[in-house]
Amino acid sequence: MDVKKQQVFNRVINEGIEFIRLQFIDVFGVLKSVNVTPDELEDALEGNLMFDGSSIDGFARINESDQCLVPDPDTFQFMPWRPTEKGVARMICDVYNPDGTPFEGCPRGILKRVIKEAREMGYELNMGPEGEFFLFHTDSDGSPTLHIHDKAGYFDLAPIDHGEDARRDIVLTMKQMGFRIEASHHEVASGQHEIDFKYGEALKTADQWVTFRDVVKNIAKKHGLYATFMPKPLAGENGSAMHCNQSLFKDNKNVFYDINGKYKLSNIAFNYMAGLLKHAKGMTAIGNPIVNSYKRLKPGYEAPTHIAWSNSNRSTLIRIPVRRGSATRIELRNPDPVANPYLVFAVMLKAGMEGIKNKLMPPPPVEEDIYNLSEKQRKALDIDYLPRDLFAALKEMEKDPLIEQAIGSHCYNRFLEGKYKEWHEYAEQVHQWEIKHYLAKY
Ligand code: ADP
Ligand code: MG
Ligand code: MG
Ligand code: MG
Ligand code: MG
Repeated sequence: MDVKKQQVFNRVINEGIEFIRLQFIDVFGVLKSVNVTPDELEDALEGNLMFDGSSIDGFARINESDQCLVPDPDTFQFMPWRPTEKGVARMICDVYNPDGTPFEGCPRGILKRVIKEAREMGYELNMGPEGEFFLFHTDSDGSPTLHIHDKAGYFDLAPIDHGEDARRDIVLTMKQMGFRIEASHHEVASGQHEIDFKYGEALKTADQWVTFRDVVKNIAKKHGLYATFMPKPLAGENGSAMHCNQSLFKDNKNVFYDINGKYKLSNIAFNYMAGLLKHAKGMTAIGNPIVNSYKRLKPGYEAPTHIAWSNSNRSTLIRIPVRRGSATRIELRNPDPVANPYLVFAVMLKAGMEGIKNKLMPPPPVEEDIYNLSEKQRKALDIDYLPRDLFAALKEMEKDPLIEQAIGSHCYNRFLEGKYKEWHEYAEQVHQWEIKHYLAKY
C-alpha cells in the first residue's frame, strides 16, 4: 500500500473513526455518498467498491451499470459536526469503469482532464469562488419554509443578524476542515450570507466547494435553520451567486499581471477573458443549470444580464477587481451555487485556454451601468445578452462545440437530456402568476 493510503489507515485507527464516507458528485452537481467501515477500508482504497451507476442521475445505463469508486486519499477529512467518538470521515472519489479505466462521465475526472491540458500549455488555474446562500426557518417537521430569520442587509451585524451564530459555527467548522476563511458577512438580501475562502488550485477548490455546501447545510440544521443554495428563492431580492474569481499561474507567478500592460493586465489575461466572453452563451447552462437560475439573472440585482467586461462595474458579466500583483484576477459573475463546480471550472478553463491559443482580444470595457442602457444603446455598443431561460441556454450550449469538447460527449448528452426534461416539466405547469393575472381578466 502506498504512503498516502497508509496515512489514511493510521488516521482512521488513531482517531477512532468508525465510518468512512466515500463521496462523489453526479452530473447535476448533487453529492452522493456511501459509508464503509474500517474493515472494508483497504478494499475501498484499492478501488474495489462497486456501485450501481444506473441509479445515479446522468451516469450509466441499466445494461452497463457496474462502476467503481476510487477514493482520493488527499481529500481525507474528519467531519467535525458528526460525533467525535466513533466519528465519521470522508474521502472524495473518482468514478472508474470495472476494467480500471476512468469513467468518461465523472465530473471530477472531466475537470482533471482539462486541468492536464492547461498544464501541458504551462498554466495552472487558480480559482476563488464566493459562496452565497440563504438561511430560512424550518417548520415543526423540520422542512424548509420561506420564513426569513432576519431583516439585516449587507455587512450588518448582530443582533439584527440572527444567522450570525450559525455562520460563526459554519466558519469554525470549515477552519477545522482545513479551509482558510478570508471573509464572512451578511449579504444584501434578508437572510442571505456569504463566506469566502482562499483561492487555490482548481481541483482542490472544486472539492472544497462541495465540502463547503455540505458544511453549510449540516451546520444550519444544527441551528434549526435551513440553508439553501437555490439561486433565487425570493422574488424582488438579490439572488445567490458563485462568482468565479480566476487566474493562471506559471512558476508560482500570476501571469494575468503585467505592470506595463493596459490596466496592468497581461495579453494572456486579455486572451483568457476574450475566450470566456466568446463562449459565455454556450457555458451558461453549465453555470446556471436550473430553471430558477434565470430568475436571478435579471436587471437590478447585481447579477449579469449582458456579455461585457468592466473594471469595477457590478452589472457586467466579467469584472476585473482592482487588486493587482498575485491577486490579479478575472471574476466571472454569472455562475450560481447550484452549478456542478467540476463542470463549470472545466468549461471556463477550456474557454480561457481557447482564447489564449487563438490570441483572442476582448472588446473595450463597458463602465456604464448596463441595466440603465436602452436596447438601442446596447446595440450601438455591440453588447449581446446572456440566454434568458434554461431552454435558451441549452440551445446555446448545443451551438457551441467547445462545451462538448470540455465535458466529453457522455456528460454532454446526459446533461442536455436531463435538463430539457426539467425545462419541459416546468413549462407545462400553470404558475401562480398566470392565475393571478389571467384567470379573472379573461
Ligand atoms: P468581491 O469583491 O467580489 O466580493 P471577495 O473578496 O468576496 O470579492 O472574494 C474574492 C475571492 O477571490 C476570494 O475567494 C479570493 O481568495 C479570490 N482570489 C484572490 N486572488 C485570486 C487569484 N489570484 N486567483 C483566483 N482567485 C483569487
Ligand atoms: Mg464577495
Ligand atoms: Mg468581499
Ligand atoms: Mg457577494
Ligand atoms: Mg464577487
